[in-house]
Amino acid sequence: MQHFPIFLAVAGRRIVLSGGGDAAMAKLRLLMKTEARLTVIAAEIAPDIRKWAAAGKLQIIERAMEPGDALCASLFYAANEDDVEDARVTAIAQAEGALTNIVDNLAESQFITPAIVDRDPVTVAIGTEGAAPVLARAIKADLEERLPSSLGVLARIGKTFRHAVDVLPMGRKRRDFWSAFYFNKGPKAVAAYGEAGVLPALENLLDDHVMTGAVQGHVDLVGAGPGDPELLTLKARNALDKADVVIHDRLVTPEILELARREAIIIDAGKTGFGPSMKQSDIDALIVQHALDGHHVVRLKAGDPTVFGRLDEEVEALEAEGISYRIVPGITAASAAVANIGQSLTRRGRNSVIRLITGHDTKGYADHDWTALARPGEVAAIYMGKKSARFIQGRLLMHGADPATPVTIIENVSRADQQIIATTLAELEPTLSRANLQGPAITFYGLAPRAAVSQAQTLKELA
Ligand code: SAH
Repeated sequence: MQHFPIFLAVAGRRIVLSGGGDAAMAKLRLLMKTEARLTVIAAEIAPDIRKWAAAGKLQIIERAMEPGDALCASLFYAANEDDVEDARVTAIAQAEGALTNIVDNLAESQFITPAIVDRDPVTVAIGTEGAAPVLARAIKADLEERLPSSLGVLARIGKTFRHAVDVLPMGRKRRDFWSAFYFNKGPKAVAAYGEAGVLPALENLLDDHVMTGAVQGHVDLVGAGPGDPELLTLKARNALDKADVVIHDRLVTPEILELARREAIIIDAGKTGFGPSMKQSDIDALIVQHALDGHHVVRLKAGDPTVFGRLDEEVEALEAEGISYRIVPGITAASAAVANIGQSLTRRGRNSVIRLITGHDTKGYADHDWTALARPGEVAAIYMGKKSARFIQGRLLMHGADPATPVTIIENVSRADQQIIATTLAELEPTLSRANLQGPAITFYGLAPRAAVSQAQTLKELA
């Protein structure tokens, strides 16, 4: 980070700007939102700036800047759009102790002004160190849309109400109160009654929250999808936003854990397929304990929690304790993987059944209806199938499957290091041994990557 973001106290302080044209006006529009004392110095001053001066928003000195003009200024902007003049005035301001900025000149500026989303007193500042102004604009546009326009009003009135909320216990209870205010009751009150509706809404809401007694824990059993954060559902994101505790699987990626509420406790309950692992019953107990402590627990599972996720054991443990829970589905590895090889899970005239099968279960290698699977056109998505590949291959061939049946293995689906390996049933082993995959992998029996995808993949490998 080359620039450190701060919010500078400028109320009543002096900010000086040298320049009287378009660049000066653009900066002044921002600066006039503050309570700083603004002085504009330039030999030629645009009519709009004169109007602002007449309205008492700033002071004008109508001549070129001279030594002494920036005395006691905390910030100084050079906006003459003339390199030589900007360098001259900046030298004066620096000698007089101001922090200086030259408009559109990152290298010569001591500070830069971020893109701003203004919901005063809530202000979001976005900076890219000058590297990607387009990106800053896009983020700004996105936030402008997302943050309720009444947020500023709500924050201002909410601030005056903070002491009243002391009747609620600290932590979860208070957070729930404020989140219900800012994102639900508050905006509704403003829409219905304007600013005057906000305080009564706060009072009603507080009454409701005081009435509702002890804190109840809750568990969201959430699908995290295959790894790419963009493949999370909005429900999953919202749950992560609210979580006090996140208990996650080994396969949940760091990028997704990043999205959890900053104060959330993150617990890795990772269970490697064969290595040392936390027992399922211990995980159940862990979830239950945190919920009984009154926390909002997010149990975050790779893919979809209902697919090979041992969801039912956790649900039963919660039901036994009468803990409220909700299941939030996710994109399972098979769905994400098939999309990335340009195929469908089902296809008219090819397969009207798709089997999601596991390579191993509690008893070891899992048995399946091999006769049915061996028929032409069958498709199966094999989860946890790396170690059992030879076993599956043997069973299918023994039951008469065509050795030329396409098989596709996709490792690290949706992640930066995704790898697609196309082979056939006959070649499944040794292809897999050779590939020596370290990441999670899903195997499609009966599907080859669509030609275009396979070609793109080859080009990538050659590159
Ligand atoms: N609930 C998960 C599956 C858990 S079982 C889901 O719906 O996807 C774990 C197996 O899922 C892994 O052995 C692997 O076969 C598959 N898997 C999960 N995430 C994967 C990923 N990103 N890429 C490839 N396979 C994945």
